[in-house]
Amino acid sequence: MNIHEYQAKELLSQYGVATPTGKVAFREDEAHQIAKDLNVERFVVKAQIHAGGRGKGGGVKLATTLDEVKRIASEILGMILVTHQTGPEGKLVQKVLVEEASEIEKELYLGMVIDRSREQIVIMASREGGMEIEEVAKKHPAKITREYVNPTIGLLPYQCRKIAYFLGLEGKSVNKAVKFISGLYQLFTEKDCSLAEINPLILTKSGDVFALDAKMNFDDNALFRHTDIEKLHDPSEEDPTELEAKKWGISYVKLDGNIGCLVNGAGLAMSTMDIIKHHGGEPANFLDVGGGANTEQVTQAFKMILSDPNVKAIFVNIFGGIMKCDTIAEGIITAAKEVGINVPLVVRLEGTNVELGRKMLSQSGLNIITGADMREAAKKVVESTQAG
Ligand code: ADP
Ligand code: MG
Repeated sequence: MNIHEYQAKELLSQYGVATPTGKVAFREDEAHQIAKDLNVERFVVKAQIHAGGRGKGGGVKLATTLDEVKRIASEILGMILVTHQTGPEGKLVQKVLVEEASEIEKELYLGMVIDRSREQIVIMASREGGMEIEEVAKKHPAKITREYVNPTIGLLPYQCRKIAYFLGLEGKSVNKAVKFISGLYQLFTEKDCSLAEINPLILTKSGDVFALDAKMNFDDNALFRHTDIEKLHDPSEEDPTELEAKKWGISYVKLDGNIGCLVNGAGLAMSTMDIIKHHGGEPANFLDVGGGANTEQVTQAFKMILSDPNVKAIFVNIFGGIMKCDTIAEGIITAAKEVGINVPLVVRLEGTNVELGRKMLSQSGLNIITGADMREAAKKVVESTQAG
C-alpha cells in the first residue's frame, strides 16, 4: 500500500526524522490559512498524488506571499498532473501540501528496501539526490552505496555514520544524519514497510538534515497489525478496476498489452503472461480469479477485462482443481450474454469436469477458439491479435 507524502512526513516526525513543517490542504483558502500559521517567509505548495516526478510536471511550486500560496494552490488543486510515473493520462490532484521552503545546500538520496535474495533490509544512499536513482544506478553505479542490516542485530550507529560520510556530511550534520537514518529504520521495521525513499534528503544551509520528499510503501499482508497505517489508504489513488476486483476477491493488475488473461491461481497466471510474451504477445493484465471462483466472479472478471479498451483478444487458461471446468464454462457463457464478448476468445481448459465444460462451450453457439494445451492456446491468442 502506498501513502501520500504528507502522511509519510507525519509518520517520519513521529519517529524523530526531521521534515519541513507543513500541512495538507484540500482547498485554496485552507492553503492560505496554513501558510499564514506557518509564519515563515518562503513556502512550497506540493501536489499530493501517488507518483513522483511532480516537480518537473509542475506540481511543486515556491511562493513568497500568502496570496501567491493561495493562487498556486488554486492552480494545482483540480489539475491533471502528468509525470513520468503517472502515464500519459495523468492524475487528478485533490490535495496539496503547504510547507516551509527549505534553504537547500545539497540534495542527497536515501532509500530503504528489502533485498529479498539476501533477506535483509538494504539502505542505499547517494550524493546524486533529486535525480531518478534508477538513472544513477545505470550510469554511475559507484555513486550509490549500499549498507545491509543484519536483522538480528539491527542497524548499528557505525553504519549510519558510514552512510553520512559517504554523503559528504561533516560535523554536527553527521549526528543529525545518524538520528535521521536510525529513525527511518525504526519506522521501516515497526510498521512493516516494503520501501522508504527520501529523494531528496537535504542538507540545509544551517547544517540541518531534512526529508524534503518521502515515498513509503507498506506490506499489504502486514496491514492487519497496523490499523493506523491502513487508515491512510486513499482509494481515489487506485486504479478503479483494481479496486473493483478487490471487492470481488479477484487479483487484477492492469498492464500495457492487448491480450486479456483470465486464469485461476497466481502461479498459472504468471506463467500465462510468460507464455504470451514467449510467443511475441503482450498481456493486458494479470488476473487470478482464485482457486474456488464462482460463476459470478468469472462473469465479473470478464467485465473487468473487457473494460480495458486495449484488449484485442482474451485468453482463458484454467486448470480445474478446486475450480471446476463447468463453472468456468458457465461463467464464460453468462458473461458473453451479459456483456457481449466481441474479441477473439481462446480457451484452454483442463482438469475437473473438463469434458462437461468443453461440451457446454461447444453447444453455447459462442465463437470460441480452443487450444489442446497451453502452448497451442497461447500461440493462437497471439496470432489472433496479429491478424488484426
Ligand atoms: P517529486 O520527487 O515528485 O518531483 P519532490 O518533493 O522531490 O517531488 O520535489 C521536487 C523538488 O522541489 C525537490 O527536489 C526540491 O528541489 C524542491 N522542493 C520540494 N520541497 C521543497 C521544500 N520544502 N523547500 C524547498 N524546495 C523544495
Ligand atoms: Mg522527489
